[in-house]
Amino acid sequence: MAEKFKTILKKFKIGRSLKFRLFIIIFLMGLIPSVFMRVGILENYESRAIAVRTSDVQTQLKIIANHLITYNYLQDTSSEVIGAELEQLSNLYNGRVLIINENLKVIKDTYGISEGKTIISEEVIRCMKGTNTASHDSVNGFIEITIPIVENISAQNATEDYPEGTEVVRGVMLTSVSTDTIVSTMEILNRKALILGIIMAICTFAIALVLAQILIRPFDRISRAISEVKEGYTDEPISVPDYLETEHIVNAFNSLIERMKTLDDSRQEFVANVSHELKTPITSVKVLADSLLAQQDVPAELYHEFMEDIAQEIERENKIINDLLALVKLDKSAAEINISVVNINELTEIILKRLRPIARKNNVEVTLISKREILAEVDEVKMSLILTNLVENAIKYNQEQGKVEVTLDADHQFFTVQVSDTGIGIPEEALNQIYERFYRVDKSHSREIGGTGLGLAITKNAVLLHRGSIKADSVEGEGTTFIVKIPLSRVLV
Ligand code: ADP
Repeated sequence: MAEKFKTILKKFKIGRSLKFRLFIIIFLMGLIPSVFMRVGILENYESRAIAVRTSDVQTQLKIIANHLITYNYLQDTSSEVIGAELEQLSNLYNGRVLIINENLKVIKDTYGISEGKTIISEEVIRCMKGTNTASHDSVNGFIEITIPIVENISAQNATEDYPEGTEVVRGVMLTSVSTDTIVSTMEILNRKALILGIIMAICTFAIALVLAQILIRPFDRISRAISEVKEGYTDEPISVPDYLETEHIVNAFNSLIERMKTLDDSRQEFVANVSHELKTPITSVKVLADSLLAQQDVPAELYHEFMEDIAQEIERENKIINDLLALVKLDKSAAEINISVVNINELTEIILKRLRPIARKNNVEVTLISKREILAEVDEVKMSLILTNLVENAIKYNQEQGKVEVTLDADHQFFTVQVSDTGIGIPEEALNQIYERFYRVDKSHSREIGGTGLGLAITKNAVLLHRGSIKADSVEGEGTTFIVKIPLSRVLV
């Protein structure tokens, strides 16, 4: 049943509306108790009315039963007083009274039909034994009541069998009274209750409609506010604090907007930086070429010198483009990480061998300290990028006769690569920014030594792809230490 209701709700779009559901809940909550109350009160009224009627008639019958004994009616039915009383009773309750003697013979019937007949019914026989009975026949609309006619044996009537004071059942009064008046009262009440019920249902309908509309309003406000943001009228944070729930939705939306704004800002900044960085070598090339063109009879050596400068600028441009491509590839290929078991010690040795000529040119000594053999599940190309960038920086930002020390170590979970130099150091306030794209502590110095400002951004990305961490400690003028920590196995993380 519930499933069927759900599929019907799904089929109709309105069924998925919160407003509609609220309306239904409020409407039913108003309607159901009123229906139950109506049915309950009416049912209760009917049984109460029947009970009252029964007890009234029983009281009357008891009085008449006493009179029957007093007037010796069971032996002689000619008493007019009793006849009038019986007539009055049957008129009052629109009923029929039968008086039955000890031999179960009808001696009086107010309808005059059954006089002289014998009645053998369960109620009459039970009543003969002294028990009152009363039963309601709702189908035919009457109550049947029996009352024993009891004689209290007086002194002069006392015999051996019936001593003075004993109560003897001398007969039975069998009465059926109509419940027509109760039924018609019930009908009137029913009609009134129905009208009242319809009025209440209409009121509940209207209240449910208005309440559902009011309760749902904050959600309408949210979608309106979101539309305004979407259409670009505003980018202010939205606020709908009516409910805790709406506040949560709005807070989540605001933080999403905030994040998108930050992303957008950083993308714009990146594009601006890229354009600027790419423009610088081209401007230099143009200046160099223009100055050559502007002169006549330029000596061959000057040509040569300028051409060397131009080639250098082109090389720089090339390096920036390559670094940018590496970065973009790292951003894109988070899922394309190519994991294999790599001997980190061997890899580091190969890289150091490749970088030693540059170190020698800068008069820097590079040493490798392998504390243990490390076999790790990494992407070899990306790991090479990490090592190359860190050692290259340690050489580049070093001093004459400087030293670079690469230390490899591992515990059971991670391996660490520590690259320490005796170089110029990084100011403390710049330590957090060095991983940003195009950030350099000293722009002109970095450019002079061929830096693009992208090396550490690439390194950090590659470390994060390995679910590792990178941190730098530095003392200006004394040197810098970079520590990279990477899990040995992909499963461990
Ligand atoms: P770059 O291509 O300029 O070297 P990086 O992203 O590799 O760019 O480094 C960013 C900046 O961090 C560098 O410009 C430099 O100022 C600083 N830096 C990086 N490594 C070191 C180091 N070992 N010693 C001193 N400064 C460093």
